[in-house]
Amino acid sequence: MTKYEKLVPPSKGEKVTVKDGKWNIPDNPIVCWVEGDGIGPEISKVMIKIVDAAVEKAYNGKRKFEWFEIFAGDKARELYNPEVTDEELKALSPDEQRMTYLPDDTLQVVRDYHLAIKGPCTTPIGKGFSSINVGIRKSLGLFVCLRPVWHIKGVPAPVKDPDAIDMVIFRENIEDIYAGIEGYPGTKRTQKLIDFLRTEWNVPADSDSLRSSAGISVKPMSPENTKRLVRKAIQYAIDHKKRVVTLCHKGNIMKATEGQFRNWGYEVAIDEFRNQIVTEKELNDKYGGDREKAYADGKILVNDRIMDAMFQQVLLRPREYEVVALPNLNGDYLSDQLAAQVGGLGFAPGANLSNDIFFAEATHGTAPKHAGKNRINPGSITLSACLLLEHMGWNEASEMIKTAVSRAVESKNVTYDIARQLKPTVKPISTSAFGEEIIKNL
Ligand code: NAD
Repeated sequence: MTKYEKLVPPSKGEKVTVKDGKWNIPDNPIVCWVEGDGIGPEISKVMIKIVDAAVEKAYNGKRKFEWFEIFAGDKARELYNPEVTDEELKALSPDEQRMTYLPDDTLQVVRDYHLAIKGPCTTPIGKGFSSINVGIRKSLGLFVCLRPVWHIKGVPAPVKDPDAIDMVIFRENIEDIYAGIEGYPGTKRTQKLIDFLRTEWNVPADSDSLRSSAGISVKPMSPENTKRLVRKAIQYAIDHKKRVVTLCHKGNIMKATEGQFRNWGYEVAIDEFRNQIVTEKELNDKYGGDREKAYADGKILVNDRIMDAMFQQVLLRPREYEVVALPNLNGDYLSDQLAAQVGGLGFAPGANLSNDIFFAEATHGTAPKHAGKNRINPGSITLSACLLLEHMGWNEASEMIKTAVSRAVESKNVTYDIARQLKPTVKPISTSAFGEEIIKNL
């Protein structure tokens, strides 16, 4: 008997457990995977082959993933709601629309099994449909979006020194302007809010900044969400021997939200990591502003940067930044810019996490025009699997894959997106052939 509506757990393998923040990883863990839409099937299959080969090789067959397929996106709709027509779907509430593509079964399995990886999922265009990804993050409380960015040797990059970039982004994943609290222009509910702001918050009625014709997105930011994010970022810096954690914000303008992000970030640093950190102010007072002296003293520097300046900093002085904690919107922008600096989204890994779930994912979309053509780059989901392996403490297998990806790229046996950027350009190989190339190089 299974407690799930349509899913049957694999008969082999053991459950990962998490107790009081401690992860217990058996040698044959059950790991959930979502194939994804569009190019999802192609890249997910290649990723699984590579992970299986690397784990087998790294641990001489003593360790093995037991894959448990779960469903989101088009495949979920086909399996769980085949009878719902597009017309009927449009008439459903946003939540019901989401459940058509993201069944409770899927969410419950991830809660129970803790580790998962997914390909990209389409966001169906329907009024009010929030994306499947946002649904997953919110329903499972995955409050951190983790995006490490580094340069893989041989990947063509638009900046002079891409190897200077080695950063790990911690992006808040649930609140901020992305919370989905919105009013479309010209609707009754938006007008009510505008009236409220004018009468209760004293916004002048003739203000160009709050016209009656405006649409409104609300930007909530809380100490709870900020602190749990910054806590994870600092703990990561400690665990991975990183030397600096930077809080990025636009607090000079949005004082009640982004300015508080900065203050709460410092608060958690000082209240919970007093002996391990030094703030930028303390760096000046105690170490004469010399960060090398503070590092030599075993301290992690916690500093902050205003967001617009940070975009310049990562271009001009990238070596000064290692772990970066940001609110949701800032994090979205910065992680994509950094990915571009090292050569694009094709090799950008990511994961969403809470204290007891680690959900890795390809960071690009479903690229529908390439679907089924066996030509797309499986690098993002493959390197996302490396994040999963590292989270499990299976670093040997992860390192093996990363090195093999580098070797494949250096030998110029690459998919079209990289091939066309090389100078001179080379003949591209297929998604599956690139996967074989990586496996050959393990
Ligand atoms: P996209 O990332 O799917 O594609 C944009 C372009 O980037 C593609 O046409 C392709 O040229 C290139 N590209 C993307 N992935 C690549 C890869 N692995 N290798 C080589 N080139 C690659 O973005 P989009 O067109 O804006 O979105 C398409 C769909 O994907 C939408 O439905 C959107 O909602 C969804 N989406 C899903 C996710 C997710 O599930 N994580 C993320 C973003 C977009």
